[in-house]
This record gives sequence, structure tokens and C-alpha cells, in this order.
Amino acid sequence: MASGGDNAVVRTSALLEGAADGEQEPMTGNTVRLVDVTKIYQSSAGVRVPALDGVSLDIPAGQTLAVTGRSGSGKSTLLHLIGAMDLADRGEIDVDGQDLTKLGDRQRATYRRGIGFVFQRFHLLPALTACDNVVAPVLPFRTSFNKQERALKLLAAVGLEGREHDLPSKLSGGQQQRVAIARALIGEPRMLLADEPTGNLDSVTGSGVLELLFELHATRGLTLLIATHDPAVAARCQRVIALRDGKVVSDEQAASAS
Ligand code: ADP
Ligand code: MG
Repeated sequence: MASGGDNAVVRTSALLEGAADGEQEPMTGNTVRLVDVTKIYQSSAGVRVPALDGVSLDIPAGQTLAVTGRSGSGKSTLLHLIGAMDLADRGEIDVDGQDLTKLGDRQRATYRRGIGFVFQRFHLLPALTACDNVVAPVLPFRTSFNKQERALKLLAAVGLEGREHDLPSKLSGGQQQRVAIARALIGEPRMLLADEPTGNLDSVTGSGVLELLFELHATRGLTLLIATHDPAVAARCQRVIALRDGKVVSDEQAASAS
């Protein structure tokens, strides 16, 4: 087994263990409900761009949902709104019954800390080691766990034992994405929002990263939303929605959905 390799075998027990140092509470993912959500951007030429246009969606706890659609169809916008990284212009976004559109700035920041994000371009801080990148989101906050210890555990769980103190520039794309996934898990999220997480990886490396995401879903009961162009990703999800011009144009449950 190539520890630290792009496709290092992920140890399920380590992922489970990482759930919360000591505590072994069963986790459930977040439940998400969107009602008539609209987000309109202004282009620099002043044209209104409806990135999301009246989207209603119920996502049960622990579901794996692929968000598909062409470039520009609104996938990232949907993830950003559910992650409270951006504000809707209209509609309601409830997560576990809490309406995100009614939160104040501080409450939104607290909410965001409970959500894991994984981006296409990894977005690691280049001057920080893998370990410090994983710690970064919780660095300013008091936590119930030892940050460094937990970061090391998560890095081991994503197959990066021995690479904890390397800078991102020393790591391959797949390894950098694994660091980003470990970072997304540091705050004990109950939902993972992954925006084209394999978009910058070759197919073999990408499938290793996907394995990891689905493994996390299976062991931690996370709600998992993946924006993707890749039919292979969609095929692995319990449900696939397609967006076109900011509208949901299809919504299908896989036959094997549980
Ligand atoms: P996708 O992720 O499916 O490629 P996006 O959600 O990024 O789609 O974008 C949806 C639409 O909104 C596109 O037309 C895009 O150009 C527009 N858009 C996204 N973000 C902005 C922004 N910050 N300012 C202006 N237009 C934007
Ligand atoms: Mg996008």
C-alpha cells in the first residue's frame, strides 16, 4: 500500500475514530430544504444573470446528491447558498429547520463552521504545511478537541501519513485534494459540499478522491452534495439533479438508492 499516494487505501476505522476524539456519537447528516430560491447576479455590463431561478429541493439527512448541468447552469451558486457563503435574493433555505436567510452575520459564520467544503482547485494556503492547512479553519476558535492531534488523525485517515509537514507544493494534485478533504472535516461537519472535487485531477486520481468521499459518507453519515460534470460521479450518488439556466430540469433517484 502506497501510504501517502494518490490512491492510498483509506482506513475506515481511522475515519470512524476521527469522528470525534473519544466521543462515538452516531452522526446524522444535515437535512436541507430549499423553497423557491433565487439568486440573481449582475454582470459587469449590468445584465441580470439569474444563477438560480426558483429552486425548490428537499434533501434528506445523509443523502448523496449529484448536482449536474453545464458550466454556468448554477451548480456552484447552489452549493454556495446552501453553505451560506452567499445570500439568496429570494426564497428560503432551511438546514435542520433553521432558515439560513434569517441568520445574522455571526450566526452565519457559526453555521459555516459546521459545513465542510471541498473545491475544484483545492484552495490550500501555499505557505502552510498540510497539517497547518487542516487546522486553519478552526485556528481562531476554542474547540473541544486538540486541533493538531485531530488534524494529524484526519491526514492519516485520508492516506497522508508521513506527509503532514509538507507544503502543498510538494504534494501531487490528488494529495492536495486529500488535504482539502481533511481540512473540510476538521470542524465535525454533518454536510460536505464538494464543488467539482475531481475537476482538476486525472481520472485515476479523481476516482481515488471519490472513493474517499463516499467512504466518508458511509462511515460518518454525512449529507454529501457533489457538483459535477462527470457521469461516473453522478452514477455513484443516490440522487441526481440537473440544472439548466438556474432551474432544476430533472431529479432522479438511483434504483439502488437507500
Ligand atoms: P456552474 O457552477 O454550474 O458553472 P455558477 O453557479 O458558477 O454555474 O454560475 C451560474 C451563472 O451565474 C453563470 O451564468 C455565471 O456566469 C453567473 N455568476 C456566478 N457568479 C457570479 C458573480 N459573482 N457575478 C456575476 N455572475 C455570476
Ligand atoms: Mg461551478
